[in-house]
Amino acid sequence: MSAATGSNRVIERDLVVIGGGPAGLAAAIAAREAGGDVLLIERDRILGGILNQCIHDGFGLHRFGEALSGPEYAGRFISRLRELDVPVMQNTIVLGLSRDRRLLVSRLGELQEIRARAVILAMGCRERTRGALSIPGHRPSGVYTAGAAQNFVNMENIMPGSRICILGSGDIGLIMARRMTLEGAKVEAVFELLPWSSGLPRNIRQCLVDYGIPLFLSTTVVDIVGMGRLEGVRVAQVDEQRRPVEGTERFVPCDTLLLSVGLIPENELAREAGISLSPITGGALVDADCMTDVPGIFSCGNALHVHDLVDRVSEEAERAGRAAAAYVSGALPKADAPVAVRPGAGVRYVMPDHVSVPKVISGPEKITLAFRVTEPRRDGVVRLTTDDGVVLKEEKHPRLHPAEMVWASLDLSQFEEMKRSGKTLEVSAS
Ligand SMILES: Cc1cc2nc3c(=O)[nH]c(=O)nc-3n(C[C@H](O)[C@H](O)[C@H](O)COP(=O)(O)OP(=O)(O)OC[C@H]3O[C@@H](n4cnc5c(N)ncnc54)[C@H](O)[C@@H]3O)c2cc1C
Repeated sequence: MSAATGSNRVIERDLVVIGGGPAGLAAAIAAREAGGDVLLIERDRILGGILNQCIHDGFGLHRFGEALSGPEYAGRFISRLRELDVPVMQNTIVLGLSRDRRLLVSRLGELQEIRARAVILAMGCRERTRGALSIPGHRPSGVYTAGAAQNFVNMENIMPGSRICILGSGDIGLIMARRMTLEGAKVEAVFELLPWSSGLPRNIRQCLVDYGIPLFLSTTVVDIVGMGRLEGVRVAQVDEQRRPVEGTERFVPCDTLLLSVGLIPENELAREAGISLSPITGGALVDADCMTDVPGIFSCGNALHVHDLVDRVSEEAERAGRAAAAYVSGALPKADAPVAVRPGAGVRYVMPDHVSVPKVISGPEKITLAFRVTEPRRDGVVRLTTDDGVVLKEEKHPRLHPAEMVWASLDLSQFEEMKRSGKTLEVSAS
């Protein structure tokens, strides 16, 4: 952090949570319930994060056994936060974070420094934009990220256009295909570069199939046409190397192109604090307590890795909250020589990156691993193996898909044994 230049007030807190979305809310609640002194900071004027613009249902099926809308799901946590009387600073953005947990915050134009004994990063993620894709063509108006369009429609009551194409089959794009249709727009098609959808199968069914919206796989936008306003896109099929196939190009008229081409964990603050980030997920490398390699700084939710379901975000954040409270009270065992956890064949990444032993006064005697596979498979098998080939767990899955997180757990005692014998753990899928 470039020190708290210009800051005129210094506040001291035990634990500061950055971000008031579902991750920050759950982390703050869990830390408070564990007896910690917590401050929650949110840059927006309201709590709830991205859930505020997700007015469709489908949230909370695992956690509450109900299909809630985003605001309803967030509302349950906000009520609990209020019951616990957790202090919240809204309209407050964290601008800087140092390794020794000094935060530079701006609140209504006033700079403040906050010194914390522990910090939880829960800043969510941002969408990949056109700039990240380098699509050739003009720069007309009418090209938006799907999340920005969702914000226009659901929060501002503004329709971004009437004839829509969507590039990328991530969940936000799928949900927006349905939303725009319900609002009277014509959604021409969704185009996906990969040979499979990057969204949840349930969203393909409920948002495209049910509304007769075609999904073209192995297809991409190769040109954006229009000077003032978008007039259409040229699309082409791609080969196995994802290069456009000559002769397959066609023009699709539309006035709006929505991009749903990936999410990136929001980690400028983590970078500034010198936290090691994963080149695969873009989030911090953490142990099973969600602690980064900077002691006392924890990370959870979409800032850590992009999740498929918010229920899992809440679960992970609660773990971070309990562990951060334990860190502050000195009850979290010091991490030493952790057991490394590595993605093997067929697995893109595994969370956590390593497991510190001894650990877990903050949770059950099981360590849960979350991971994503590299490609869809039917009748798949997931294996948890030590680096000398001993299979610790083997699970059959009728279907494995990169859009869906896979979960598996091992007993803490198995990690203790790996530590004793100096082994690492590998997670693979076939
Ligand atoms: C369009 C869309 C549809 C979805 N649909 C579903 C669904 O149907 N079912 C489901 O289970 N999940 C769904 N999800 C996923 C779910 O919403 C996310 O997993 C969840 O919101 C992630 O929570 P988070 O707290 O990590 O991030 P966010 O909700 O993004 O919250 C992060 C918060 O941090 C704040 N913040 C960021 N930086 C700072 C800073 N520097 N200072 C202060 N505050 C900061 C932000 O303002 C924000 O409030 C959907 C997500 C999207 C985007």
